[in-house]
Amino acid sequence: MKIRTFTGSGFGENAYLAVCESTNVCVAVDPGGGAPDLGHTIRSEGLDLQSILLTHAHLDHIEGVNDLRALDPELPIWLHPSDLGLYLGVQRQAAMFGLRTDAQPEPTDELVPGEPYRFGDCTFEVRFTPGHAPGHVIFVSEDDRLALVGDVIFQASIGRTDLPGGDFQTLMKSIREQVLTLPDDTVLYPGHGPPTQVGHERVGNPFLVPHYGGELA
Ligand SMILES: [Zn+2]
Ligand SMILES: [Zn+2]
Repeated sequence: MKIRTFTGSGFGENAYLAVCESTNVCVAVDPGGGAPDLGHTIRSEGLDLQSILLTHAHLDHIEGVNDLRALDPELPIWLHPSDLGLYLGVQRQAAMFGLRTDAQPEPTDELVPGEPYRFGDCTFEVRFTPGHAPGHVIFVSEDDRLALVGDVIFQASIGRTDLPGGDFQTLMKSIREQVLTLPDDTVLYPGHGPPTQVGHERVGNPFLVPHYGGELA
């Protein structure tokens, strides 16, 4: 599996293209402001886009759904049902930032934690990681030692929990049970900023390490 990054200019959100290299089948994860570039890459390289997968439904992660649907009006959109309210309220979310946005096409499929998501010869494990958003999930490939973690954890930081549906202790539990249980060499691709590794965050993330005042080792 190969991961390619398309960062939007406004929120600096990372949209990811996960490509199964043996089959050219791919999925778009969190198509935000970088979605037009992502769509251009799919077309110019003749990749076979199977679905849109969403870690959660904040505006910056879904504002490009329409751009990819323009490539294929039947393109499935997968979301955990606990984030459906946020998704359908995307225009309310935009208003909170003093912005306007278009409504997005409705999700077609429900992500079920524990049920694998397959594309080509590749598989994502879906892990439930609420706290930043009530229906947040992460997509893990143990074979490829990588995870797309949305806004759960960043290099030296963690997701904010002050937005509607956020909860700090729930987020810390998600990180402890669903992220720090991955092998240290697992590469984490976050929704904002550069990739990192589980091992780096386990020893150096100031929100996690007690030595720096964090809550867990
Ligand atoms: Zn978010
Ligand atoms: Zn975000």
